[in-house]
Amino acid sequence: MCKHILNAQVSVRSPCCKKWFDCVECHQESESHPLKETLEMVFACKKCKKCFRKDVQEFEEADEYCPHCDNHFVLEAKTPTPVLKVEGEDARMDSRMLRDERAKPKGKPQRTVFDPEDDADKLG
Ligand SMILES: [Zn+2]
Ligand SMILES: [Zn+2]
Ligand SMILES: [Zn+2]
Repeated sequence: MCKHILNAQVSVRSPCCKKWFDCVECHQESESHPLKETLEMVFACKKCKKCFRKDVQEFEEADEYCPHCDNHFVLEAKTPTPVLKVEGEDARMDSRMLRDERAKPKGKPQRTVFDPEDDADKLG
């Protein structure tokens, strides 16, 4: 049982040692050699126990489903330690609001450089 992806829906057959693993990390932990990279992966659906091949280069949304039982096997991985999500949406909202606040003109500053009475005094 894979301890990296708790909701693994498929097993993947490693092209190097032809063994079944739930994820790449499982292969790394149990084998001493690196996982051989391949463009065509062999999967085994955990639901219907059937095997199928997928071209990893042309992986589309429809390829996220088992061709035998339509089991959606490409899932957002559930890892044992939950990672805190950065609330990007809210942060963006806040910064936009702050920017708007700064950009808003707070009334025109009074111009005191030009004072007609001073000029009049200089001219005598
Ligand atoms: Zn291997
Ligand atoms: Zn694993
Ligand atoms: Zn299936």
